[in-house]
Amino acid sequence: MNASPGRWRLDGQTCLITGASRGIGLACARELAALGAQPLLVARDEAELQSVCDELREEFPDSEPRSFSGDVGDAEDRLAIFDWIADLDVPLSLLVNNAGGNIRKATLDCEPGDIEDVLRLNSVAAFDLCRLAHPRLAQHGNAAIVNVGSVSGATHVRTGVAYGMSKAALHQMTTNLACEWAEDGIRVNAVAPWYIRTRRTDEALSDPDYLEEVLDRTPMARIGEPEEVAAAVAFLCMPAASYVTGQVLAVDGGFLHFGF
Ligand code: NAD
Repeated sequence: MNASPGRWRLDGQTCLITGASRGIGLACARELAALGAQPLLVARDEAELQSVCDELREEFPDSEPRSFSGDVGDAEDRLAIFDWIADLDVPLSLLVNNAGGNIRKATLDCEPGDIEDVLRLNSVAAFDLCRLAHPRLAQHGNAAIVNVGSVSGATHVRTGVAYGMSKAALHQMTTNLACEWAEDGIRVNAVAPWYIRTRRTDEALSDPDYLEEVLDRTPMARIGEPEEVAAAVAFLCMPAASYVTGQVLAVDGGFLHFGF
């Protein structure tokens, strides 16, 4: 195997990214486009997606970003995403399962359906999207899936049991699919971020006492940026990561390893 610089690029690859209109998903779209991939963006808000596509086209004139508005938590919308890809007739080689959400409650405050809702969006939707993508990824033969998990899938954090369970399931799904689909030429990895500065975390991090507690528990003593997660996602997508599969890469400033 040669050490060609092309192994660190994604030219000619097409990547489906969910939750791509802002935050970590948008940073992934930008990073992958910068590396030569054609991004297919999915999120719920059509207007937001349109303006993201315009921005990306301006920033990366060689890229051809396209978007589909839909709710990945909805089974029919997931099918519609793959009908859209079939109509586009593009050879899909990368899938980034990034869309996710939370109902942040203590266990005893959870109402019927809360846990199912979080599991449906964070774990079941990603599982289904992997299955729907499989024929196209297998056809490519050198494909990759990256799931956006969380440190909450590996240890207790204050985001609640539903979110932790759903992200732990996503991590385990990553391990299983990596083993099952290696023979199909599909690598499957995940990233597990700790606090990243996005709209989702704005409110919690705007409380100075809470922020101080977070920083005290983070060896690097700062909040992560969406671009730092996107860089890890991009590496896991690249030919340079060709022997890496089944991994959950923490992007956490050292949080998970910081015992007492
Ligand atoms: P964000 O709220 O900034 O952005 C979420 C994006 O996902 C938006 O584009 C939104 O439209 C889209 N989205 C949400 N639900 C959707 C649905 N049902 N269907 C389609 N699109 C949907 O969030 P973020 O902070 O960038 O988080 C992205 C991912 O990273 C999530 O899976 C989250 O669990 C994970 N994560 C985030 C952090 C963090 O600190 N921000 C830490 C660990 C893990």
